[in-house]
Amino acid sequence: MAPRAPVDAHTGLEAARFGVYVHFPYCLSKCPYCDFASTAARQIPDERYTRAILSELQRRLEVQQLGGREVSSIFIGGGTPSLWDPRSVGAVLEAISAGFTVAGGCEVTLEANPGASDAERFRGYRAAGVNRLSLGVQSFEASTLTTLGRAHDGPTAQRAFAAARAAGFDNVSMDFIYGVHGQTEAQVESDARAAVALGSEHLSAYALTLDQASLAQEVPLARQLARGEVALPPDETVVRMQRLVRDVFAGAGLARYEISNYARPGFHSRHNALYWTGGEYLAVGTGATGFVQGAQAVRYSNQRSAEKYLLEVEAGQLPEASREVLTPNELFEERVAMGLRLVNGVELEAVCEAFGQSAEARAQTVRHLVHAGLAERRGGRLALTDAGFDVHSAIAARLM
Ligand code: SF4
Repeated sequence: MAPRAPVDAHTGLEAARFGVYVHFPYCLSKCPYCDFASTAARQIPDERYTRAILSELQRRLEVQQLGGREVSSIFIGGGTPSLWDPRSVGAVLEAISAGFTVAGGCEVTLEANPGASDAERFRGYRAAGVNRLSLGVQSFEASTLTTLGRAHDGPTAQRAFAAARAAGFDNVSMDFIYGVHGQTEAQVESDARAAVALGSEHLSAYALTLDQASLAQEVPLARQLARGEVALPPDETVVRMQRLVRDVFAGAGLARYEISNYARPGFHSRHNALYWTGGEYLAVGTGATGFVQGAQAVRYSNQRSAEKYLLEVEAGQLPEASREVLTPNELFEERVAMGLRLVNGVELEAVCEAFGQSAEARAQTVRHLVHAGLAERRGGRLALTDAGFDVHSAIAARLM
């Protein structure tokens, strides 16, 4: 049996401690709610983009002090990475293996769009070393998919799942969205039931976010919302939708382990657990954000424009749009906010001590949260209840 990633002492989750994120920015069309670094392309410059990724990887290996890191998760996200030629994906995975020690049992995920999925392509990814697929289903309902501007329909998503299984993937995740304008609670429940009927190992369900403050860039649907042309369901309805999803998934053996993520035992996302538990990740590709700790904790983000990214890499530069050194206080705030997203919560006192913060100064707030039924003490951990998850951001802010 392949060795597993170590269990993180703060969360109880098996988390990678160092991972590699590779971004593929091209899509068949641009969805009106999407603020990812993605671009609609009729002609995808597959070879050119692959060369750029290999160059950036090489350059980062030369200039960033990453010696001795063992890669325990690789995530190829997008965009629509299932538009990437499997041979190109294979070349990128080979380059990662050549540059780093890759742990046995390393989780290797590729995001796939149902509209760009077939068993042969999936077999190619499997042969290249991908061992986990994440399908961006979002919904099986025609009206919801149309509203979201998605190019696929429900039967196409069902076929994509079948294609993943036919290609030999025994670890398949699917993403869903609820809280879409015009969507009913019955439709959300129907999506959740259809998802569990397929027997996926992992499911994610996110509320649609069009709040300008939490988006990386302005999106057409947010402008329509601001003009009053669309209206999202009220908050109470969105909370009920979330609970419907949680109950249907739990009834099928997929436990909630993070605010928006559910898994069968042993199938949580090790790469995402890395983000929630303060692990390091090298990131390459358009718009990718990396976090590496050496003498300093550094976060960098690459150019979001695919063309700008390509030109800078081709000129021999690191294609960064920003780079910041994080202070202990910023690291503390991230650990608390991210840790509280997990059902197992965060070891608040230990994290306070690690980052030079006072646990005592927060004790009163913790008592209030527990008294109000928003949080629980579990051993040394502070974990939010379901009611607490509904106001996660406000609670995290109070603890900072
Ligand atoms: S397919 Fe995904 S990444 Fe591409 S535009 Fe739509 S939401 Fe964004």
